Formats: sequence, structure tokens, C-alpha cells
Amino acid sequence: MPGNGSPPIVKGVSDLRRAVDGFHSDEHRVALVPTMGALHAGHMALIEAAGEACPRTVVSIFVNPTQFSPSEDFAAYPRDDAEDLRKLAVAGVDLVFMPAAGDMYAADFATSVNVTGPGAGLESAMRPHFLAGVATVVCKLLLQCLPDIAVFGEKDYQQLQTVRRMVRDLDIPSEILAVPTVREADGLACSSRNDYLTPSQRPVAARLYEILCQAAARLKAGGDVIGEIERAMISLREAGFGGVDYIALCDGETLEPLSDAREGARLLAAVRLGSTRLIDNLAL
Ligand code: AMP
Repeated sequence: MPGNGSPPIVKGVSDLRRAVDGFHSDEHRVALVPTMGALHAGHMALIEAAGEACPRTVVSIFVNPTQFSPSEDFAAYPRDDAEDLRKLAVAGVDLVFMPAAGDMYAADFATSVNVTGPGAGLESAMRPHFLAGVATVVCKLLLQCLPDIAVFGEKDYQQLQTVRRMVRDLDIPSEILAVPTVREADGLACSSRNDYLTPSQRPVAARLYEILCQAAARLKAGGDVIGEIERAMISLREAGFGGVDYIALCDGETLEPLSDAREGARLLAAVRLGSTRLIDNLAL
């Protein structure tokens, strides 16, 4: 990496396994970067980290229907395969896995991964289908590819901790590598869903990170957790967010709520801006 030629694309699991077996038989460790496409700078940072960790990188692109509820944006989710493949060619990835939905989920698919622990609360309180859908597809992708390393972003922090726990609990033989959140110049975390924001919403969206940073600084300085979270909620509403799904101080590993700001704590939030839902988090 980086390269110029278009990476080979495989659509079926047996082709994926054959290619990964080939990498392994050449004594190359393999990193998998699971994505839903609409690639942006955050995804590219994961791909760069994968390339630093392993000589072979596989990127999967699959918009996973089971992590969307019927009322969510599955149909409208941004998709641009041609542009994604151009970016992956420039990044020099070794293989792209683009399964069809019907191949991932047979019509009589009957099994899913149930998550508790770090997967309970927060996103699960608002979107009960979401983390089970993510865990199920990530479990499948890891078993399909059997990478040495799988790379995830801290941007989706509860997802990251849920995947780490699943891999440990189910003895999946891949190491999980986390990459810090990549942000736009004004602090807004890069996200495929930022495309939904209107020009007037865009500066409001950046205030989420600013308000989280202020709250984190006050908590670190000894501020009362309930008081500071309340203050941050008021600031978010005053900034123009239509609703605050949650803002919470949690243990960075278990995601259990904390009543004091201690080493390893994480501040996580989900807000709504028009019809767009934004999430962000930071370490204290
Ligand atoms: P997605 O395509 O949104 O499902 O994301 C695929 C992977 O990219 C996940 O591991 C995300 O956490 C990660 N990711 C998304 N946005 C960012 C970002 N701004 N910074 C770092 N990683 C990100």
C-alpha cells in the first residue's frame, strides 16, 4: 500500500476464503476492515491502520439490513460503489469483499447474536435491533474471512466494545484493533450520515463535539456528573439539536454508567438534528 491498480472484488464466501487462504499460505497476516461503504476519511484511517498492522488488507462493503429498523434509513443509506472502489484502489487494498444481501442472509436465516454487557443501554435503549444486527453481521464477516486482525473505529464506541466482547466470548480468533475518531476541521466526526445534513445544519452539527469537550473538561476538573450532564443537555438543545437521545459517562470498557469521572471513563452522546441522528464520544 498505497497502489494504483483496482483491487480484486469477490462476492462469495468461498472466493473470499480462497483468497485469504492464499495470503496466509504466503505467510502474510491479513487485516479485515468491515464497512458499509460511502467511504470517507474515517474509513480510510482504518484502512491505513490495517496496512500498518498487516501486509494484506481486505475491505468489506455491505450495507447490513439487519441493523436498520423498518423506520430507519436502509433504503436511503448513501451508496457509491464506483467511488468507493476508486478510493480503495488508491489506498492499495488487496481485496474487496462485496457480498449480496441474499448471500449473507438466506430467506430462512434463523440465527442471531444476542448482546448484553457493553451492548446494553445507550444505543440499545433507543435502537433495540441495532447492536444485535451489527454483532451478527460482524460475527459472520469474521468467520467468513478469518482475518488475523479486524479494524474498527472508536467513532462507534459502543459497537467497538460490543464487538470486542463478542470476539472474546465466542472465541473468534481475530484481534480487534481500534482507531481514534477522524474529524472534520471543525471537530464534527466524519460519518456517511453527515451527507444528510443541510448547509444550515452543518455548523450546528459541529457543536456536538465542542459541547462534549467542554463537559469532559469540567468532569475532569471534578465537576458533578449529574450536574455536568444536565448542563451539556441544555447546551445541546440551545445549540439547535432537536433532541438528545442520551449523554452518559460510562466505564470505557464495560460501558456501565459512572457516577464519578475516573481513569478510562468515556463520555458518549447521541443527538438528533432534523431527521439526522449523530453520535460521538470521547475519552476523559
Ligand atoms: P460504517 O461504514 O459507518 O459502518 O463504519 C465502518 C467502520 O468505520 C466502523 O468501524 C466505524 O466505527 C468506522 N468509522 C466510521 N466513521 C469513523 C470516523 N469518523 N473515524 C474513525 N472510524 C470511523
